[in-house]
Amino acid sequence: MRQKIVAGNWKMNTTPAEGVGLLKGVAELKKEVCACVRLIVAPPYTHLCPVAEAAKGTGIALSSQDCATEAKGAYTGEVSASMIASLGVEYVILGHSERRQYYGETSDTLNKKMAQAFSNDLAPIYCVGEKLEERETNRHFDVVRAQLEEVIFNLTSEQFSKVVIAYEPVWAIGTGKTATSDQAQEMHAFIRKVLAEKFGDAAQETSILYGGSCKPSNAAELFAKPDVDGGLIGGASLVAEDFIAIAKSFAK
Ligand code: PEP
Repeated sequence: MRQKIVAGNWKMNTTPAEGVGLLKGVAELKKEVCACVRLIVAPPYTHLCPVAEAAKGTGIALSSQDCATEAKGAYTGEVSASMIASLGVEYVILGHSERRQYYGETSDTLNKKMAQAFSNDLAPIYCVGEKLEERETNRHFDVVRAQLEEVIFNLTSEQFSKVVIAYEPVWAIGTGKTATSDQAQEMHAFIRKVLAEKFGDAAQETSILYGGSCKPSNAAELFAKPDVDGGLIGGASLVAEDFIAIAKSFAK
């Protein structure tokens, strides 16, 4: 049985105090969610410490939204994977399209970040997804395959067993446009097939999340698809009730 996951990417939103409030709101409502679903929240770096403290004993796991390519040293403004892990954070989002698009992250950058994540026992939530123009010119499968081959194929089998994949079509992120459940299923099945080429049956165990304008009104249909194991949620993760409503799409 693959782990079902609903992860909230708070991006650059909330103050630390608001973040703690949001975590508490999610924790309060968590009892309504099937115990089969792993809830993860990814606050900004500045919030990780107080949110980790507030999350103790709630069963909600923490993720950072990124980590540095290097272990330590003269890298002003960067935050290392070891600093993040020292707070009890378990996951790190890597390769989010906003990082690829606005901060020029390449596969080369992401291979370094992967190495840092694994050296510090952080499980990567690795994001892949095509831009609108790539889908319109029928290149979406090639783009996603390259994003997997250039980074995930460099992992050992043991490392691969810890990876979560998030398929996030760039044209659906923050736009209100969701991929249809059939489009999501088609790509998720493709991703699993590509992963199986390298890692064999282990790909059957990989949780593949959908991300891109996922909300309470469309989550159930998306999550009902056989290769959709949950969601990476942006905007809707900023309201505890919405985030929980999405997670409740998995029946108890
Ligand atoms: C995201 O950025 O990971 C995301 C899925 O955002 P949104 O849900 O707001 O589209």
